[in-house]
Amino acid sequence: MPRFTPTQYELMNVADGRVFKDKGWTLADPESPAPSLVRAVYGEKLFTPREDLEGIYRYASWLPIRRILKNAQGPVTYQSKGLARELGLKNLFITFTGYAPEIGAEVATCSFKATEAYSVCARLPKKTDKILVVQSAGNTARAFAQVCSDNNIPIVICIPRDNIDALWFHKRLRSCVKIISSPRGSDYFDAIQLGDKLCRSERFLAEGGAKNVARRDGMGTTLLSAVEAIGELPDAYFQAVGSGTGTIAVWENNLRLIEDGRFGKKKTRLYAAQNAPFTLMYDSWKAHQRALVPMTAEEGRLKAAEIDAKVLSNRKPPYSLAGGLFDALEDSKGDMYKVTNEEINFWKRKFNALEHIDIYSAAACAVASLSMAVKDGSVKKNEIVMLNCTGGGEESAKAGGYFMAVPDLVLSPDLPEDQIIDQVCRLFD
Ligand SMILES: *Cc1c(COP(=O)(O)O)cnc(C)c1O
Repeated sequence: MPRFTPTQYELMNVADGRVFKDKGWTLADPESPAPSLVRAVYGEKLFTPREDLEGIYRYASWLPIRRILKNAQGPVTYQSKGLARELGLKNLFITFTGYAPEIGAEVATCSFKATEAYSVCARLPKKTDKILVVQSAGNTARAFAQVCSDNNIPIVICIPRDNIDALWFHKRLRSCVKIISSPRGSDYFDAIQLGDKLCRSERFLAEGGAKNVARRDGMGTTLLSAVEAIGELPDAYFQAVGSGTGTIAVWENNLRLIEDGRFGKKKTRLYAAQNAPFTLMYDSWKAHQRALVPMTAEEGRLKAAEIDAKVLSNRKPPYSLAGGLFDALEDSKGDMYKVTNEEINFWKRKFNALEHIDIYSAAACAVASLSMAVKDGSVKKNEIVMLNCTGGGEESAKAGGYFMAVPDLVLSPDLPEDQIIDQVCRLFD
């Protein structure tokens, strides 16, 4: 592998601008006056793709990583013809992260969660006695399991038993990857609770979700890929959101590119879409409030069960805190849309016919929201539009055969933490 010198960066508390050092895995500012994300501030102010590195590491000068990993892939941006014509758009660019070798997209796990996995796992030091813990409803689990298996990184994946179908792989996973699941009938929040209890032991390291700067800047490579292809910042950006992390990340890279100055000074209007009836952030945004509208666990469960794009059902998204999705939408003069299952299915088929890629329901939700924005005039026909197609190509990826992973342990999240820790530790001994 090529020699790699990590880029220099510090962390900034978005709420008060305090700049401080990363202790290695800092997820928040301990002195923050208010709930806030921390953001990476890179020494390199110019956008400088690394021609010598592969996949997302091409953007390593804006990634808070210490090393580079094997088999790295990344997003691919191309100018749309079929969908562009259908919508009457002159400058539609599709950023696709998934498997479609005909356009050069080779993410074998098929979703843009790969971008966060290659970045987060590369933020870990090469020699560490800690075991990474990731909680996921599906796509994140698959991406981290693959990256950690390929690179011999010890990890515990926490996933609800009913979502285990998301764990398909081309090869059997190495033993550094352990899968623990909450019992049948449990959901994402139970898997989160399992992981949280596990992380009370020093031996385990919580990945951190949206708070992890590596996760966000990994996802933000979608915009970097688009700007390289377009040559300037887009006017509008479309993405389906569950947590909103990918959209926050795009906003952050937009601000860095404005500082660079060579790609224009505009703030790209950010448009985020949710799958109705799971419209927690949509409802909050339309009420124009920073606080999330209330949603009980039970209500969340019922609504999550109804939607096709299951990955879009996060009940605790980083929306309200400083530097979160509310701020991103507000600062960029963006907006939100809600999309029904019928609309998703319509655009999924349409996209396949027009662009020849089978996309996930979540990605189709973004396409549907773009069609709405064209119709309601939010987007003008000659504007530069970036559509973040967050995943797809699963049919072709699976065509070569695949294995299903099975849980190493099924544990109730109600077990006392020492029992959970003890049982999981034994898997690694
Ligand atoms: C996770 C995911 C999303 C939503 O991403 P966020 O930026 O975290 O809201 C959209 N599409 C797919 C396919 C995903 O896996």
